[in-house]
Amino acid sequence: MARVIEVRVPDIGDFKNVPVVEILAKAGDTVEIDQSLLIVESDKATMDIPSPAAGRISELRITIGETISQGDLIALLEVEAQVEPANIPGLGRSPDHRPEIRPTGSNDCELLVIGGGPGGYSAAFRAADLGLNVILIERYPTLGGVCLNVGCIPSKALLHVAAVSEEAERLSAYGVTFAAPDIDLSKLRYFKSVTVGRLTDGLGQMAKMRKVDFVQGEARFTAADRVSVDLSNGLSREITFSKCIIAAGSSPVALPVFPEDPRIVNSTGALELPSIPRRMLVVGGGIIGLEMATVYSALGARVDLVELFDKLLPGVDRDLVKIWQKRNAHRFDRVMLATKVSEVGLTPDGLSVTFEGTESASQIYDMILQAAGRKPNSGSLALEAAGVRVEGGIISVDREMRTNVDNIFAVGDIVGQPMLAHKAVHQGHVAAEVAAGRKTGFDAKIVPSVAYTDPEIAWVGVTEDEAKAKGLAVEVSRFPWSASGRAIANGADYGLTKLIFSKESGRIVGGAIIGPAAGDIIGEVCLAIEMGADAVDIGKTIHPHPTLGETIGMAAEVAEGVCTDIPPQRGK
Ligand code: FAD
Repeated sequence: MARVIEVRVPDIGDFKNVPVVEILAKAGDTVEIDQSLLIVESDKATMDIPSPAAGRISELRITIGETISQGDLIALLEVEAQVEPANIPGLGRSPDHRPEIRPTGSNDCELLVIGGGPGGYSAAFRAADLGLNVILIERYPTLGGVCLNVGCIPSKALLHVAAVSEEAERLSAYGVTFAAPDIDLSKLRYFKSVTVGRLTDGLGQMAKMRKVDFVQGEARFTAADRVSVDLSNGLSREITFSKCIIAAGSSPVALPVFPEDPRIVNSTGALELPSIPRRMLVVGGGIIGLEMATVYSALGARVDLVELFDKLLPGVDRDLVKIWQKRNAHRFDRVMLATKVSEVGLTPDGLSVTFEGTESASQIYDMILQAAGRKPNSGSLALEAAGVRVEGGIISVDREMRTNVDNIFAVGDIVGQPMLAHKAVHQGHVAAEVAAGRKTGFDAKIVPSVAYTDPEIAWVGVTEDEAKAKGLAVEVSRFPWSASGRAIANGADYGLTKLIFSKESGRIVGGAIIGPAAGDIIGEVCLAIEMGADAVDIGKTIHPHPTLGETIGMAAEVAEGVCTDIPPQRGK
């Protein structure tokens, strides 16, 4: 038995009243499901309108040149009684499926973005806002990349819990004592996952609102205008593009000395909170190592830390690191600097680790976190097929974020240090704008860094150590938080705000802060550097009192010799 269904124009995005330029079937024809019935063309794109089911066209209701919009009747189709129209939006069920859109010029999209992290989604969204037709490929089911899924956000959720529980403990010195924390790991994991889920779901929604086509799969280049994508359903698909932005990010470095063992994890494994080890070794004294050491120690682990260099947090001035180490001494049994792991033995009792350097005795651990850096994900993209140049895994780009291949851009971790989300986002915007024909470039003077530990350390621009090493003529001003009413009230009088000014121009060129919320208040220093402010600009700006941010204004006053919150400054 046959029945007749109406074939209507499906959801074709924002297009309305688009002219029919070609009709590919006529009354009486037998058509297959998904077979193109007609082609419409706007000033931006050509689109196929496919048949929602197999059957025989009994009547065509459109003519060439006629304009059509979503919902208009195209044809009457005789189908077998049991046949259901397929997943064609406007007719069928799946809201995710959209008809194939080919921009004029016959590529699948105007802009292809590879990687759904901060660099990739920011580029895709900006480009869509500028009117480009965008496909975004990500190998995992959610957007957000490392930052949202296994980096910035889950680590900050856990660091928040660590900071609040340790702050609560410290209150006993002021006469308010709480019971020791009772940790429910599964609830904590749930809090972390819900935090991540809210953000990644939000990104998914925003991609839909912008009509960015999300394709889940792993892409590799086959030429400078196409990729082959291994889809999550096991099939593969070729996608052609006019322009492409590579935002494929980075992955943790795995040191060869560490064997495969579930007790040896990287940051992703550590953020899963598999258990709270009694004895933990953190390998790497950079931001990620120190943040994870903070989390696990607050949850009850005893932590040792080993670092190949002779200092923690390379790139941060020694005076700040000294304060940090003093405040964090209780966390660590051993901090082994200028030391490396030379051997790891797997025993049922634990992981037996031998060191080479300042420490040589073997130690047994229940968990090891490898946080020894990250490497760009350039290896699996077959960049050579597109002719994109890579050096040491890093894709080199110019000011417009363009690679050596004219229509291919790259942003974020894959273009090298600093590997930070906010840098990736800004680069993503630049690449998208250039791809859309705007004149712009990535000309940020500075990229700030923050260790969200307890206390936080934030730094930006020229450091004092760097100025000394390079012989730069700078003026360094310090405001100790022991002179800040708010810091004293908050139990944070150990903090420090330091500003660095060029002697030649008088303008601020750097700054560093240690103390609670350092990462939040460093933004003012970033703005001051970008705006070319001098000490008078910052010091004469009225900061609210009493705040920790006020210490930036006061450090500027110290540079001018006009600060009345510290003893008189001789010679100023
Ligand atoms: P990623 O976020 O790495 O995204 C790249 C995406 O590309 C990934 O989702 C990947 O699956 C996908 N991909 C790769 N290859 C392919 C392919 N062939 N096909 C399809 N998809 C592909 N930065 C901060 O600024 N602040 C922080 O507090 C902070 N904390 C961090 C904490 C941890 C534990 C870690 C590990 C990192 C942290 N970072 C932080 C760094 C930050 O996460 C990265 O700098 C940022 O995610 C880089 O963004 P991206 O878009 O370049 O790449």
